[in-house]
Amino acid sequence: MSSCIFCNIIQGKAPAEIVYQDELVTAFHDNHPVAPVHLLIVPNKHIPSLNEWEASDEPTAGRLLSVAKCLAEQFHLRQSGYRLITNTGADSGQAVFHLHVHLIGGRRMRFLG
Ligand code: AMP
Ligand code: ZN
Repeated sequence: MSSCIFCNIIQGKAPAEIVYQDELVTAFHDNHPVAPVHLLIVPNKHIPSLNEWEASDEPTAGRLLSVAKCLAEQFHLRQSGYRLITNTGADSGQAVFHLHVHLIGGRRMRFLG
């Protein structure tokens, strides 16, 4: 989708610090990090949110989690811990309507309010 910032990042048409990419997912640094490590892991396919997720997307879900685990290790978060967040819809504060998983770590976090 040409108007989607994450689609443009995936396709190399918008700048981002990409840390991983394969045929299913792309991961890059969040440009407004809320913690020392703040990565976004996104499906290469444009899926606006979990509401539009389909059963056929299940292999991508597995890959998203596998990549999250590998990146957590690569960024030295395995011991200290980390959080995965996927916002969906207005009440969650979702701002970019291309499904993404936030991988956040490197500082102590409180329970979500
Ligand atoms: P959400 O509220 O879950 O939709 O989060 C969207 C996230 O995308 C925010 O943490 C933003 O800082 C991040 N973001 C938005 N545009 C960009 C961009 N061009 N490059 C990297 N991260 C971005
Ligand atoms: Zn998109």
